[in-house]
Amino acid sequence: MRTVAEGCGLHIDCGGMTLCPFHNERIPSAKIYPDNLHCFGCGVHVDVIGFTQKIFGLEKPIDAVKKLNEDFGLNIEIGKAPTTKEVSEYQKRVQEKHEYEV
Ligand SMILES: [Zn+2]
Repeated sequence: MRTVAEGCGLHIDCGGMTLCPFHNERIPSAKIYPDNLHCFGCGVHVDVIGFTQKIFGLEKPIDAVKKLNEDFGLNIEIGKAPTTKEVSEYQKRVQEKHEYEV
């Protein structure tokens, strides 16, 4: 979330706060969380995809995904279903992460 917000020109302070891009303010009231942005001023709550959609005025989430994919060089093949191997590798990573965190 932080990478995308900074990529869109938001300045994030050491407390993770930033000026809300969705309403006018002089004191930062939007907080950047690892996977979302929440504004305590206007109440906006968006994840990376919702944020991109809102900032660029994109109608559909898939358009935001495509934009992020291009802008950040994620090399995701959109429209292609993941292979069984990719899915099991992903599940393995999630499992490992979970074990690490416990
Ligand atoms: Zn706001």
